[in-house]
Amino acid sequence: MMKKIFTYNSLIKTFFLLITPIFFQYFALGFIWHSIYWGVITFALLIWAFFIISTPLIGRVGCGWFCFFGSASDLSSQKSLYKLKWKKPKLWLRSLMLLMFFTSAIFFYFYNKRQGITHDFKIITNFLKLNFNKHYQLVWFIDISIALFFGFIAERRWACKNLCIVGSLSAVGAKYSRLLPVIDTQKCTLCKICENECLVRIPMIDEIIKNNGLITNSECILCGKCIDVCPENAVKFKFVWNRNKFKEKSPEVIPDIRKRIALKKAKSKAKQVNINSKCSQCTSICK
Ligand code: SF4
Ligand code: SF4
Ligand code: SF4
Repeated sequence: MMKKIFTYNSLIKTFFLLITPIFFQYFALGFIWHSIYWGVITFALLIWAFFIISTPLIGRVGCGWFCFFGSASDLSSQKSLYKLKWKKPKLWLRSLMLLMFFTSAIFFYFYNKRQGITHDFKIITNFLKLNFNKHYQLVWFIDISIALFFGFIAERRWACKNLCIVGSLSAVGAKYSRLLPVIDTQKCTLCKICENECLVRIPMIDEIIKNNGLITNSECILCGKCIDVCPENAVKFKFVWNRNKFKEKSPEVIPDIRKRIALKKAKSKAKQVNINSKCSQCTSICK
């Protein structure tokens, strides 16, 4: 079941990607802005508010399983031109996007209120028209194109990490997420396959060593790809209620991993100087 989680993830993401044109008014992130602007609580606002609020419990499930923009960028990022390693989100860019988004939306809300067009906040969930008319078709096309473009030319999920306001807010809650990828450090061989395949390129090896196998990076979208690709079946999703307790419970793991790294380095060094290291006895006893 756990091994198949990425297959389910791909199916669900494809499903939402395909139905987005029909339910665009519910899914499109831009309608959060429209909702504030018009002073109306819509489905789009409720859905994304739910995903943001639930991040301290279930992490960024909305980003990894639901969002059509993220799914589209995952498609093109597999062939990305940009092969560099993980980079942290740019905090200044995130802050700027948040500032622009909310100040403009709130400004227009008060402007509309002054004009008498809108009053206090009202719940009209389907306020935005439900037919996929020309305007929405264009917005959908632009959104998909931007997602594919960034996926292709930038590092994986660059736009999610730097431009999206839902992503920025979700990352704050995901710092405390209880649902995490957990690595069985007794099985893990530090082969790095999960790091190379991760849809966000999370620095898995650093995380494994630093946190005794807990992947606590708030950019993790819980896609399950690391579970799928791990040759040792060492990755699982688990609810970890107390991260510190979890780390304390496995204190012997870190030295064990460091020993394995040292051994790996020694082996590759032995190969370089053409030593026959098939039995590895020399490298395992070498200090
Ligand atoms: S960060 Fe934004 S665009 Fe990216 S998957 Fe999450 S909600 Fe969608
Ligand atoms: S793919 Fe598995 S064995 Fe390799 S580093 Fe990741 S968790 Fe460890
Ligand atoms: S760490 Fe695993 S679950 Fe998280 S984004 Fe990377 S591949 Fe997906």
